[in-house]
Amino acid sequence: MSLETDQINELHWLMEMLHTIDVGLVVLDRQYSIQIWNGFMENHSGLLPREVKGKALFDMFPEIPKEWFVRKSEAVFMLKNKAFTIWEQRPYLFKFQNYRPITGTADYMYQNTTFIPLMSSTGEVTHLCLIVYDVTDNAIHKKDLEQANSELAILSQTDGLTQLFNRTHWENCLKAEFKRWTRSQNPSCLVMIDIDHFKNVNDTYGHMVGDEVIRHISGLIRHHVRETDVSGRYGGEEFAVLLADTTLENSHVFAERLRLEIEKSVVIYNDIEVKYTISLGIAEIDESIKNYEAWIECSDAALYRSKEEGRNKTTLHPKQG
Ligand code: GH3
Ligand code: MG
Ligand code: MG
Repeated sequence: MSLETDQINELHWLMEMLHTIDVGLVVLDRQYSIQIWNGFMENHSGLLPREVKGKALFDMFPEIPKEWFVRKSEAVFMLKNKAFTIWEQRPYLFKFQNYRPITGTADYMYQNTTFIPLMSSTGEVTHLCLIVYDVTDNAIHKKDLEQANSELAILSQTDGLTQLFNRTHWENCLKAEFKRWTRSQNPSCLVMIDIDHFKNVNDTYGHMVGDEVIRHISGLIRHHVRETDVSGRYGGEEFAVLLADTTLENSHVFAERLRLEIEKSVVIYNDIEVKYTISLGIAEIDESIKNYEAWIECSDAALYRSKEEGRNKTTLHPKQG
């Protein structure tokens, strides 16, 4: 074969490869009209090269934000440097459908793109090449992972039986609120709750019924608190609710409402009907309380007094000073 035939063959093969490669290739001129459109672009857009050739990019693909695209491309033309877009910042340049069966969760193809300056023989950048990579699989996996991580984070803060915060997370919230209070000095109250004679429930009806009672009170606590309140399962049948920005008087109203509602409710498990009551203790934070542990002790002491004084009762920790 002659040298010339070799070169023609090589060029032919290169063209063939560019057309079939699983990456989008587009060449634009200085006016942003399309000059080259490879097989990838054809397959995903449904538009043949002859249908787009010489057409303005922004007329054919109105989803491309013109101002942003021109600003980015002008820098490539002027500085003769490459530029990039990644799916995390802009999910796609061309809005192509996603057809991949395993990543059927995405509606469109996520893309990374590279802008390459194409120089003429005079060294001037006359054209721009866009390379479009389909990164849908990566994007979906990363999004799935992020979703799983955030679910895991919630799970690690949540008590399985009650869906309230677990003790560790709840204590962290209390610690944070204590710190916040030292700056804001807004009233803030801690309510500790313990089911009365809970051993009797377990002993009489068994643990399954006991668990149902725990679920019942948790549901009521969730129902009564505001979104900004922090409620947690502190121990087996002990609960703690942090009422931020709430006075002792208002916390008392909350506690009594909960106590009375529980007093009049009946927990039904199969054909077993259980009635139960709770005791509560409330402490408002003040200067005499030096750390969050001491705050818990004050509420606990008030709860203990409710137990001593006959149960089914709310006691307020006396205000100091
Ligand atoms: P008091 O009125 O003084 O609080 O009496 P009490 O019987 O409720 O005493 P205490 O608060 O010490 O009760 C703790 C009991 O709660 C002991 C334990 O068997 C039971 N318990 C703790 N966690 C669970 C749980 O997750 N499920 C069930 N069913 N029972 C639990
Ligand atoms: Mg108890
Ligand atoms: Mg207890």
